[in-house]
Amino acid sequence: MKKIAVFTSGGDSPGMNACVRSVVRTGIYKGLEVYGIYRGYEGMIEGDIKRMYSHSVSNIVQRGGTILKSARSMEFKTPEGRKQAYENLKAHGIEGIVAIGGDGTFTGAKIFQEEFGIPTVGCPGTIDNDLYGTDFTIGFDTAVNTALEAIDKIRDTAAAHDRIFFIEVMGRDAGFIAVESGIGGGAEFVMVPETKTDLNKVVKSLRNIRANKSSSIVVVAEGDEEGNAETIMQKVKDKIQDPEKDFKVTTLGHIQRGGNPTAHDRLLGSLCGMAAVEGLIDGRTNCMAGIMDQKVVYTPFGDCIGKEKPLNELHLKLIDILSI
Ligand code: ATP
Repeated sequence: MKKIAVFTSGGDSPGMNACVRSVVRTGIYKGLEVYGIYRGYEGMIEGDIKRMYSHSVSNIVQRGGTILKSARSMEFKTPEGRKQAYENLKAHGIEGIVAIGGDGTFTGAKIFQEEFGIPTVGCPGTIDNDLYGTDFTIGFDTAVNTALEAIDKIRDTAAAHDRIFFIEVMGRDAGFIAVESGIGGGAEFVMVPETKTDLNKVVKSLRNIRANKSSSIVVVAEGDEEGNAETIMQKVKDKIQDPEKDFKVTTLGHIQRGGNPTAHDRLLGSLCGMAAVEGLIDGRTNCMAGIMDQKVVYTPFGDCIGKEKPLNELHLKLIDILSI
C-alpha cells in the first residue's frame, strides 16, 4: 500500500481535525502518500482530492469543525454515484481509505468497499456516541461539556426566577448527551429515546416540588418518544395547571457541534487516526478503529451500525437517586 486517502462525512464533530491530522502524519511516518478528500462522499464523486503533507495539518489539533469539510451526499446512495467515486479514487491511485464519520458514513463505506474492494477503515466521528465498538466517539465529550456549560448558565436564571426549564440537547436516536449532561447539570429528569418517558411521574414530581427547591431542570434528548422539549413542556404544563409555575424551553442546537475539542476528544481522535492507518497497513478493511478499555479495537462496520450500544444502567440509576 502506497497511497491512502482520508475524508470526514456526516455531521461534523469536535476532534475530527485531530483525527485527520493523525491519519496524515501517521501515514507519512509509515512512508505512505496521503490524500485528503474534501466534502465527504460529495467530493469523492466530484474528484475533490488533494495531496496532504505534514504541514497541511499544522495548527488544527485545537480546532472544532473539519478542515476537510463535510457534506451529506444523496448521489453516493446511487450505484452511478459510487462508480464515479471509484473512478476518481482509481485515477489518483488510492489503495486505502480512512472514513471519519457516524453510522451513515459507515453504511456508505461498507457498501462501497464491498462493491469495489478498496480497503476501508473507519474512525468514530460523531457527537452522538451511538456507535457500537468504541467506548466513546470523537466529539461526544466536547458536546457534553458544551451542553453542560449552557445548563449551568440556564440554572442561574432558573434559580433567580423559580423557573422550570426544559432544555433540549441533540440526540435523535441516542440519549448519551442528555444523560451525561443531565447528571453533570443536576437535572431533575432526563428524557431519552431509549427509555419510556413517564410524563405522569414528571407531573407529580414537579407539582409537589419541595418548597426550598428554587429551580428545576429537565433535559430532553431531541428524539424522545413524547416529542421535543417544547412539546413535552406543553404536555406537562397542561397537566399541572398551576399558573404560579413558570415554564421555559431552551433548545441548545448547533452550539453542541462547535468549539475547541476537549483533551479527551483530541486524544481519542489522534489514537483512532493512528489505529486506522495501522489497520490499513496490516490488511484490515470494512471495520472501524475504536478505543475500548484504553485499547484499540477493530469492529466490523456491520456491527458498528447494526448492534445497539445501550446507555449505562448506572447512569440511569444515578439520575433517579440524585433528583430526590
Ligand atoms: P452523524 O451521525 O454525526 O450525523 P453520519 O455519518 O451518520 O454522521 P449521515 O448523514 O447519516 O451522517 O451519513 C453521511 C453520508 O453517508 C450520507 O450523506 C451519504 O452520502 C452516506 N450514506 C449514508 N447512508 C448510505 C447508504 N445507505 N448508502 C450509501 N451511502 C450512504
